[in-house]
Amino acid sequence: MNAFTANASLVLYPVEPSWVPENLEALIKFLQETGLAGDALHQDENSFSVGENFLEHISFMGCSPSIKFNNENDDDKFTFIRLTLTPTITALTGSHSFAPHCPHCKKAEKNWREHLKDHRLHCGHCRQTSEAWQYNWRKSAGFGRCFIEITDIYPKEAIPQPSLLQALENRFHIAWKYFFYYP
Ligand SMILES: [Zn+2]
Repeated sequence: MNAFTANASLVLYPVEPSWVPENLEALIKFLQETGLAGDALHQDENSFSVGENFLEHISFMGCSPSIKFNNENDDDKFTFIRLTLTPTITALTGSHSFAPHCPHCKKAEKNWREHLKDHRLHCGHCRQTSEAWQYNWRKSAGFGRCFIEITDIYPKEAIPQPSLLQALENRFHIAWKYFFYYP
């Protein structure tokens, strides 16, 4: 999906893949009020600098994260917030997506790239077909129409605090989860 950066990202998304907020402004308002997102970046109205409470909402695993919060080198290798709403359900799978585990037999479907059609995935072990998002991708792929992307975060470098996911649920009345997108 070309709206996404070529760098790895941490992506928050709702558990119901067809869900979108009542309007994009409501989501922007929420993110700015919680301090996850700050001001809009001038080149893209759906991108925002990190907000004043960013490090309260996103927990970094290392003791000294080497993240950059501004665009000093004039490239896109810095951490900012990008919102993407899509008209239909979008599959964000990438080169690092793990073989997903079937919801029925729990076995890994190694040939998922060939078997994934119209967001449905046939299991070569138990021969059942399920929606792709019913598989367990172990946080390496996501399906939806609404994505909150935190750019330039490498897989497992950082995770959202449970309180942030809870605040999203309280505001939008749907649970949220996250994955790492690595195109
Ligand atoms: Zn199966």
